[in-house]
Amino acid sequence: MKRPLTPREIQRWYPERWSEIAGNAKVIEAWWNFLVYGPCNVLITGPSRTCKTRLITLGIRTLLCNRREADQNPCGQCSPCKLLAGSWDSCTGVFRGLWRSEYSYYPIDCEKVTADELRCLHKEAELHSERSIIYLDEVAALRRRELEPLLLKQVDESRATWIASAIAVRKRLRRGRTRVTEGLSVPMQGRFGMKLGTSVPSETELTQWIRDRCDQWCLDIVEPDRTVPIVMKRTGLRVGYVLHFLADAAARGRKLTPDRAEEFNLGPVD
Ligand SMILES: [Zn+2]
Repeated sequence: MKRPLTPREIQRWYPERWSEIAGNAKVIEAWWNFLVYGPCNVLITGPSRTCKTRLITLGIRTLLCNRREADQNPCGQCSPCKLLAGSWDSCTGVFRGLWRSEYSYYPIDCEKVTADELRCLHKEAELHSERSIIYLDEVAALRRRELEPLLLKQVDESRATWIASAIAVRKRLRRGRTRVTEGLSVPMQGRFGMKLGTSVPSETELTQWIRDRCDQWCLDIVEPDRTVPIVMKRTGLRVGYVLHFLADAAARGRKLTPDRAEEFNLGPVD
């Protein structure tokens, strides 16, 4: 549906359909298998701004939806869909009872969660149920904050499904070699039976994605054959950064121009 999103809405945008995700075919396939066969503990890693959180959020919305469509999209109309739209609140046992969703959901921001909150997790979330989804956003922060030991036993002893995201960073070793690390301890890594990596889309996929979003959000691309390649080059094909360009365009007469694409101050791209 076409709607002129405000700059802020673009920055805070979350996909509502699988076709709104650029690339990431492997992660999408894994989620579709979860929807058919049930989820398992999974760690989703990837460079920053490759839409880990957006992918996971859409996956969880689809799991919680009461009227999932035949093409595996959330209906957007049922109570769980409406409650979860843009919201990060936990949806625990009460939610399941009230809205008759098959699943309950408990998101944890690992940068902010306190030791006490983790100690009380078994009281808050339904850890005994396979139909509970616990989402650990940026799980590596727990190790940095020395909170990991509070969780390892709970993950082991629970029947809930644990889904975690972590940024993959390429570290330089000696003699020019590199290694990709997610900053998790070995025991924590072992808690996730499945490990999936996000990926940047191909240039063809991202070109189409940018054109589709600009059309959907009523943004005009001036000289697209020049402008779109500039945006792709400057963002390293990462959708999280492309959204900054589109929000800026929305704030400037809803036009994305080649000159602005060149001069826009994106800040450091890691
Ligand atoms: Zn729904």
